[in-house]
Amino acid sequence: MEVRDGRVVIEASTPEDVPVLCPGCQAPSGRVHSRYGRRLADAPCGGRGVVIELSVRRLFCDNGECRRVTFAEQIDGLTSRYGRRTPVLQRMLAALGVVVAARAVARLALLLGVVVSRTTVLRLVMALPDPAWTTPRVLGIDEFATRKGHRYGTILVDCESHQPLDLLPDRDADSVAAWLREYPGIEIICRDRAQVFADRARTGAPNAQHCADKWHVWHNLAEAVERLVSRHRALLRDLVETFPEPERPEPEPAQVETVKATEEPSEPYPQGKFLDRLRDTHAAVRAQVEQGLSLREIARRLGLGRNTVRKYARAASPEAMLHGQWQNRTSKLDAFKPYLDQRIAEGCTNVSRLHREL
Ligand SMILES: [Zn+2]
Repeated sequence: MEVRDGRVVIEASTPEDVPVLCPGCQAPSGRVHSRYGRRLADAPCGGRGVVIELSVRRLFCDNGECRRVTFAEQIDGLTSRYGRRTPVLQRMLAALGVVVAARAVARLALLLGVVVSRTTVLRLVMALPDPAWTTPRVLGIDEFATRKGHRYGTILVDCESHQPLDLLPDRDADSVAAWLREYPGIEIICRDRAQVFADRARTGAPNAQHCADKWHVWHNLAEAVERLVSRHRALLRDLVETFPEPERPEPEPAQVETVKATEEPSEPYPQGKFLDRLRDTHAAVRAQVEQGLSLREIARRLGLGRNTVRKYARAASPEAMLHGQWQNRTSKLDAFKPYLDQRIAEGCTNVSRLHREL
């Protein structure tokens, strides 16, 4: 054992006269054909990477019935065919990969004296056995995107432990039914309200009670409210004109619901009656602005409030009006924006420095 180039190097050799079982026929053999060297990376020790330089034997198989003429010996708990890492190191890298993901492990490992690529870490993680689970009492079923907007599978979750149990390669209701038949005893199935899931989940688990999960209840409620508001839009317009707009509070930072919403497969912008109307009105207002009509005149012609017309006239596109009320607001920074643009164009993008300059 010695320290070489900052690493602990362990030179080791298998004994000469211990017989080994042939992996082909399990017959013992001690007749040595040759020796060769292997290098194995091991878990770091004392802040240094560890390399085991190992001399192993190639042996003859003397069993006439066996197809192997020679074979290489493996050391139980240390080597495997073509393996370049010890099981201890492999377990360590796989465990890290589960916690912080492959790319981070590759960088972290370098600090610990272990060279490993992120693809190797991924391979180690993928080779781990799936965690064991028992049939849940409350099962959650939902779509799962392997490629958003293109490929969907089905994810099955234990709603009480929040543990994902299984992924089905498609969202075909038959595979859900087959899965449910394979794991009987589920009492409650929590799902969205899509009819396909409903029918097949019932055939797969006829005794289970069905409920809509919380997110889908909220989602359906929001859709229903939008339909209602859109139907009574004329009333709202009267209200807006009767009462001046109240001060709006500052927007909250991004919320969980918003994150969930962006995960849904969707068009670049939401569709619907309300939005068609928004686009039409925007186009009408802009066209009349181009003609040089006053906002007062446009408001009279379109039967809208003057503040409403002003909002449409200011928005460069109908989509800009969907980004929320606060995005095009004036800000304390406005006066400094030309200066900032100039400094950024000059190549200064250091935020704290720009802040000091302001
Ligand atoms: Zn053999």
